[in-house]
Amino acid sequence: MIDSIRLFAFDLDGVIYLGDQVLPGATEMVESLQRMGKEVFFVTNSTLFHRRFYAQRLKKMGIKTEPERIITAAYATAWHLSQNGHKGRKVFLFGERGLREEFEGLGFQYLSEDQDEPSDIVVVGLDRDMTYQKLCKAASDIAAGAEFIGVNNDGVWPVEKGIRPGVGAFVAALETATNRRAFIVGKPNTKMLQIAMEKAGAQPEETLMIGDKPDSDIVMGKKLGAHTALVLTGLTKAEDVPLLPEEDRPEIVANDLGHLGRILGLQMG
Ligand SMILES: [Mg+2]
Repeated sequence: MIDSIRLFAFDLDGVIYLGDQVLPGATEMVESLQRMGKEVFFVTNSTLFHRRFYAQRLKKMGIKTEPERIITAAYATAWHLSQNGHKGRKVFLFGERGLREEFEGLGFQYLSEDQDEPSDIVVVGLDRDMTYQKLCKAASDIAAGAEFIGVNNDGVWPVEKGIRPGVGAFVAALETATNRRAFIVGKPNTKMLQIAMEKAGAQPEETLMIGDKPDSDIVMGKKLGAHTALVLTGLTKAEDVPLLPEEDRPEIVANDLGHLGRILGLQMG
């Protein structure tokens, strides 16, 4: 199998690292693939930071990569809109600096919440400085016909203690207010993996998606006809696997990336 796979797409949280801790086998597997000249990409539903941040974070963990090989949902949203003839249109971004930087990088102009001028597109990401005024601006522009895009639809933002509302909570608020449905870019939709495949020039059968969340990472891979591997270092435990519905079931289950590397016959370390 390993010979026919050109693109290895890794989710980050629960696959490569957990918090600040790099997970077993992650550096070795990535290094081994890079030595073989394979395409290694990282796909994450994150909306908060620019891709540079993740490249730096990986570097600190001993994984060498460039921002161009990291597909965040924020970047994927800006990329998706830029590819669909929206460049130069006015965007209202409900989000933080990382999201803004991705849009600026692709040549978009954005409006702020105190501008009366309506936007053409409303993009909803995670915004820890959200205000009622921002919600009002987003809702009135959507109601007036702006395109309504959710960077992802995650209901919660997982943190160590308790929960924090995620992007999906704001998408839901705006859907309720406007009676419209958002187009969601992030996982389990397929956009991010499609971008990685396009950049790597890989077909679905040459792609392996590696994740820890069956109803997100694995579903995304399966929808596109890619190969899928689930690692048990994140949200899924071994006892959950037999209970997975057919559409969430991966081809390969591995305890961690070290185990997955051995299953694939990689020379590790
Ligand atoms: Mg994950």
